[in-house]
Amino acid sequence: MPNRSEFLTATGAAAAAPAAILDRGVKPVVIASSNGNRFKNGGTQTAVERAFVGITRGDDVLDALIAGVNIVELDPLDDSVGYGGLPNADGVVQLDASCMHGPKHRAGAVGALEGVRTPSLVAKAVMEQTDHVLLVGRGAQEFARDVGFTTEPDLNTAHSRALWLEWKRRTDPDHYLDPAKRALVGARAGESMIRDGLVDVAHYWGTINCDGINARGDLCGVTTTSGLAWKIPGRVGDSPIIGAGLYVDNEVGAAGSTGRGEANLYGVNSMFIVERMRAGRHPKDAAMDALRRVRSQTIERRLLNSRGNPRFGLQFYALDKRGRFAGVSLYRVGEGYALCDENGPRSVAFDHLLEGAPFD
Ligand code: ASP
Repeated sequence: MPNRSEFLTATGAAAAAPAAILDRGVKPVVIASSNGNRFKNGGTQTAVERAFVGITRGDDVLDALIAGVNIVELDPLDDSVGYGGLPNADGVVQLDASCMHGPKHRAGAVGALEGVRTPSLVAKAVMEQTDHVLLVGRGAQEFARDVGFTTEPDLNTAHSRALWLEWKRRTDPDHYLDPAKRALVGARAGESMIRDGLVDVAHYWGTINCDGINARGDLCGVTTTSGLAWKIPGRVGDSPIIGAGLYVDNEVGAAGSTGRGEANLYGVNSMFIVERMRAGRHPKDAAMDALRRVRSQTIERRLLNSRGNPRFGLQFYALDKRGRFAGVSLYRVGEGYALCDENGPRSVAFDHLLEGAPFD
């Protein structure tokens, strides 16, 4: 890990950072889900680092954050976001994304978008080039093509396709021959793939949320995902829903989510977290309030584990107007959330609400 001056020099942020950091007393910072600080594709910069460098050299905060998450979207080895994301039940990759620009008070989003590797940029185009906030499905793809995005027939990689085929074998062994002849249905087949180490729980659900603030206190956020693996075609999760998978109020803070979208959609918790921060809560306390609320709202037996706790993972990320931040998770997760500030990119342990694991 480089020290502060090594990081600032190496990233070229050295000239911009000291003045930028002192301006109005807000220290620029970027936070993201764990994959925001992962190198998978031989790259030299992680998403949070790319975003922080952009912010400290004076780029628009949202442009900088989106340039960061583009690294993950384009990474064929990250099977939770963008190109190579795990497909739906038909084997088709459908992507969701949203973005919010605090100072401009604008938002854009796409749902169930096929064929574009960087849905976050299409969400930004919706925000900037239309009178709308959310475009979905074929209309979103046609819009993307019309404004100049390359569309392609299939965003699967060999890896995501192979995992989908394995899921088909487990759910439909009469037609997709499975040597073990295990007949498992729906979500349980997905869980069995997690248990067998074929799919990381963080990728069964899996997303990148990235939020940042510059020295002027301008806040923006972006959330982008391939959504729940093997979902019903057309299913849209929380990521592109303003208030659920992302919410930014430039006067207060930003919040976003990863994990089981259905649990978050019910309570539109990103907005809830921002409202808790508006009421004076520290980002950590505000985000923990949201987790407690999700837990208490989860009462269906099929969604509970043997201890009566939620049988899924959910994480929230929160950043306030003063640059204070937090990452919280229903359960302890091995890899911390991603952070980049003047001391460089690193992972920070989540604060978690519940002991054990979701499927225990
Ligand atoms: N929240 C996303 C969804 O439900 C997935 C995830 O973050 O893992 O689509």
